[in-house]
Amino acid sequence: MRTRLLLAFLGFAALVLGVLWLFQTFWLDDIYRSLRLAELQKSASELSEALHESESYEQFDRAVSELASENGICVSVYEIREDQIGKSGVMLMEKHVNTFCFIHNIGSSQLLNSLYSKAIENGGEYLERVDFSSLLSTEEKSADSGENVIRARVEEFGSSEVLMLFNTELIPLGSTVSTLRMQLLFISGILVVLAVIIAFIISSRMSKPIREMSVEASKLALGNYNVNFDGGGCSETENLSVTLNHAAYELSRLDKMQKDLIANVSHDLRTPLTMISGYTEAMRDLPGEATPENMQIVIDETKRLTNLVNDMLEVSRYQGGTQELKVTRFNLTDVIRTTFERYGKLRERDGYSITFEDRIGGDVFVEADEGKILQVMYNLVGNAVNYTGEDKAVIIRQSVVFSDSGEADEVMIEVIDHGIGISEEELPLVWERYYKVNDFHRRANMGTGLGLSIVKSILLLHCARFGVRSSLGEGSCFWYRLKIEDIRRVDM
Ligand code: ADP
Repeated sequence: MRTRLLLAFLGFAALVLGVLWLFQTFWLDDIYRSLRLAELQKSASELSEALHESESYEQFDRAVSELASENGICVSVYEIREDQIGKSGVMLMEKHVNTFCFIHNIGSSQLLNSLYSKAIENGGEYLERVDFSSLLSTEEKSADSGENVIRARVEEFGSSEVLMLFNTELIPLGSTVSTLRMQLLFISGILVVLAVIIAFIISSRMSKPIREMSVEASKLALGNYNVNFDGGGCSETENLSVTLNHAAYELSRLDKMQKDLIANVSHDLRTPLTMISGYTEAMRDLPGEATPENMQIVIDETKRLTNLVNDMLEVSRYQGGTQELKVTRFNLTDVIRTTFERYGKLRERDGYSITFEDRIGGDVFVEADEGKILQVMYNLVGNAVNYTGEDKAVIIRQSVVFSDSGEADEVMIEVIDHGIGISEEELPLVWERYYKVNDFHRRANMGTGLGLSIVKSILLLHCARFGVRSSLGEGSCFWYRLKIEDIRRVDM
């Protein structure tokens, strides 16, 4: 990063210097000349306008003075008169900007006549370059004496003609260019040093948080989750640090969950296995212990083991994305009734009351995977039974969700209990794999922590909306929605 920044800075400095070099030394003379010539041309046009617009001699005189001092040029205005000998110029006014104005020192009517006739030949305007140093005396010559440029312009004015002469000196810039070259050399040196220093400072500042973060990342790679990524104030590195901190948090959570899983699974496997081995040993060794009740306990515990293994397999299938939906159109209300009846029979002896609350008054048909939706119902009702409260009541409710246009759009299935409920912090976590509320008294005879994760995977595969409302001590309501394909009212 440091080398790249340094190269970028040096490149930029070289570019700036190159442009400066071209403009200040190479093209300086050309630019200066074209600017001065453009100034002369502009002055000629402005004075022509002033000549026609001025209402008095004084006003024109003022315009000429302003123009001469603003642009730093010498101006002379002649009126051309014709007599028996020919045309001759009569000086109307002359404006100096410095002590020596070439056109004011010519004193020769020959040059005046030649400028006039060349301007007439050229359509009213003529530019003359004069190397006047040959005309000057040695005292008048200075080091900066250079080329003189005269622009002559002839204008019709009433019945007569006016000749305007504009004169400026093109000072040779040789000495200025060599001074600038010298300056540029110094500037180049200073810029290179500055570029190195700035590149060094910036690269150190920019790379510091990245270096620190990579140290923390290597700790993370070794399994140390107690890391903190600091972005160092730059928005990009700050974003990166937020992402990395989040990743570290997620990894540590996953790690904890995996450790919990091993503890939970081994606990869940051990309990039925201990029961099975205890009962079977007793039946083998003790006469009269091989009763149908004891046999039933062994069968129940074996089923528990099978369920646990099946759940784990199911989750890993969803995780691997190998589960596919067998979508058919079926009667969802019938599926609810089946769940309701099966659980009803199972729980009758324990005093559970499972009610089906039909707010539609008919059978709802949906397009989904019937087997998987049945599994969703089993898992949700199973949880409600497991976690319900003193009243041992579970309600399964079906109702309609209307679209904005007032049509029956979706069917909403809710599984409600009035049990222990779930705290606000744990609410989003219950859908996660292997998540169980950390209560060992309850855990021993309850599920695997996989039921809701399976429900979530199935509903996500159906692109269905689902959720949970719950508060501690008041009970929970797990719900999901499916698109209604058809409703057959009971009275039809
Ligand atoms: P489990 O097999 O342990 O029930 P789930 O994935 O079905 O696993 O549920 C995850 C956790 O969510 C449960 O351990 C329990 O703490 C909580 N939970 C699920 N349903 C309910 C409910 N109806 N009332 C209270 N807590 C619930």
